[in-house]
Amino acid sequence: MLELKHINKTYTNGKISFQALKDINLTIRQGEFVAIMGASGSGKSTLLHILGFLDNPENGEYIFLNKNVARMNTQQLCHIRRHMAGFVFQQFHLLPGINALDNVNVPLIYAGRSKNKQLGLARLASVGLAERADHNPNEMSGGERQRVAIARALINDPVILFADEPTGNLDTKSEEEVLQIIKDLNRQGMTIVMVTHEKEIAGQAERIITMRDGCIISDTSRAQTARTEAAQELAFVEQKHAGAEIFDHLRQAWRSITANKLRTLLSMLGILIGVAAVITMLAIGKGATRSIEANLSNLGSNLLMIRQGSNRNSSISLGTAAYSRLTLANLNELSAVKNIARVSGQVTGRAQVAKDSANWNTTVYGVLPAYAPMHNSQPVSGRFFGRQEIQERQRVAVIGSTIVEKLFANQNPIGQTMKINKQNFTVIGVLPTKGFAMGSGGDDSVIIPLTTAMYRTMGKKYLDMIEAEIDAPENIAAAKTAIKEKLLRTQSLTEADEAAIDIRDMSEIQDAIKATSSTMSILLGSVAAIALLVGGIGIMNIMLVSVTERTREIGVRKAIGASQRDIMAQFLIEAVVLTSCGGLLGIALGWVASFVIARVLSWETYVSLSSILLSAGFSIAVGLLFGLMPARQAANLNTIEALRYE
Ligand code: ADP
Ligand code: MG
Repeated sequence: MLELKHINKTYTNGKISFQALKDINLTIRQGEFVAIMGASGSGKSTLLHILGFLDNPENGEYIFLNKNVARMNTQQLCHIRRHMAGFVFQQFHLLPGINALDNVNVPLIYAGRSKNKQLGLARLASVGLAERADHNPNEMSGGERQRVAIARALINDPVILFADEPTGNLDTKSEEEVLQIIKDLNRQGMTIVMVTHEKEIAGQAERIITMRDGCIISDTSRAQTARTEAAQELAFVEQKHAGAEIFDHLRQAWRSITANKLRTLLSMLGILIGVAAVITMLAIGKGATRSIEANLSNLGSNLLMIRQGSNRNSSISLGTAAYSRLTLANLNELSAVKNIARVSGQVTGRAQVAKDSANWNTTVYGVLPAYAPMHNSQPVSGRFFGRQEIQERQRVAVIGSTIVEKLFANQNPIGQTMKINKQNFTVIGVLPTKGFAMGSGGDDSVIIPLTTAMYRTMGKKYLDMIEAEIDAPENIAAAKTAIKEKLLRTQSLTEADEAAIDIRDMSEIQDAIKATSSTMSILLGSVAAIALLVGGIGIMNIMLVSVTERTREIGVRKAIGASQRDIMAQFLIEAVVLTSCGGLLGIALGWVASFVIARVLSWETYVSLSSILLSAGFSIAVGLLFGLMPARQAANLNTIEALRYE
């Protein structure tokens, strides 16, 4: 069945090298029960590792089922281990934290046969542990653990069983039980190679090979029980594409993550806080943008603001003279332009307002009655001024809530008299509260008839601005052109003086705000990236520690059939599950924080779907990126060294 020819093995540690196996020649036939005996350090384990496809010999040949496996790469060896060999170790090497049945089923997963769950129970029953299926290794005696390990070794129907001092850690009774199971297996036709240093145990085997200092010094067989050689012809299982499935990896990752909850929580803290910060900051940023936008739409939509342009490039055509300014006459002309629903002129000035001993410096706007509907500024109490007040240049005022507070101590001001730049005005209305102080119609403003402002209060002959409301958004562009043409013509200007008229609409202002908010997003995004980077480094650190800590587990997994890819996937998925959980908790925390901020500080916050998707995506990416290095380190561990790791 297998044949070793001139096998040598030398261990090299730095400058010291030690030849553990010296020119070993050995043939083992199918169905044999071979015991390898010898003092500690004589090379028994080294030989068994080579026999068991865990290690390559330095030179020589190893023919197994007519294939030379001496020079096979790790991937090919892994395949043979997975499908043809079973292992039992002195230290049992069960995986901690999962029950007996799951332990028995681990090799099934690596062989891509995870669907076959019944098999595990059957194998456990065959070693007399059916009723212990849901016990964890630490709830079982040494003998029971070793029997579970034997069941695990048998799960993929190996053709040969390797056992390295299987009874070395057992009491006499368990030792007998385990030996009985092994002997029964042999009787059923299983080829067995068992290492031991005890004579009595070796005595149970039919053939005893004794080693000393890396050499075989004797090879004795007891009276052969008549055996028909190769009752069934064994074939070498060719390599096929099989491996653990993603779902199995996910389940394993979940198990190992939940095995130590506190530590898991601590290690994902970086990601958690990072993501929570991102969600909260974006929620505040988005909330701020939204409230600004709401205020803007409060100003009235479809609004054009027409100002006299700069006259800098006018020196050629008009000498030093500035463009003629916007006048009341222009206002009347514009109201005739197509698509313009309403127009209002505006003059602005700072003014001292007073009532009795109360004083306040504010902004006064002179406007037309059309201003109120254009700006959604119909007074909440009292009324707006009308045509008559304009014509008669009456001293009436509509005031914002700040003025009510400062001059009238929040008492009803309607009908009261107040002073604007020492002139008496009658308050006829109070503006709706807009939530912002500045700007026309803001809470800190006084609105008076345009004519009163121009001719009585401010002494202005020209308008600072004309506002025009367009009937529909789709007509804005056309109206802009029409207005420009009209104003240029009345001011005797040509197309070349295009800059003479400056027309803005709300969409421009909104664009400006959007640009600002996207700058803010980039800023917050970089803060997020740094937070997640720090979180990711934390995860990498934890994963590296975890790989070191679980070196033996990795060795065991490889010995029972895990490929490099399986180990890599396991740790990578573990890292991703870790960061994803951290990310999810972070999103939840960020959401709660945004809610609390909105409640406590009464800021507007808004958790957007895009910020959630962004955070989730980032968490997964961080897991992949920072899990890669630890996962590769785990995958590249040498199986034997990992198994021997203390
Ligand atoms: P046994 O199983 O018979 O006790 P081993 O096969 O484990 O012996 O080891 C044989 C010899 O090889 C011992 O002297 C041991 O110190 C040495 N050896 C085993 N593994 C290594 C290693 N990785 N590096 C260096 N020396 C090793
Ligand atoms: Mg040993």
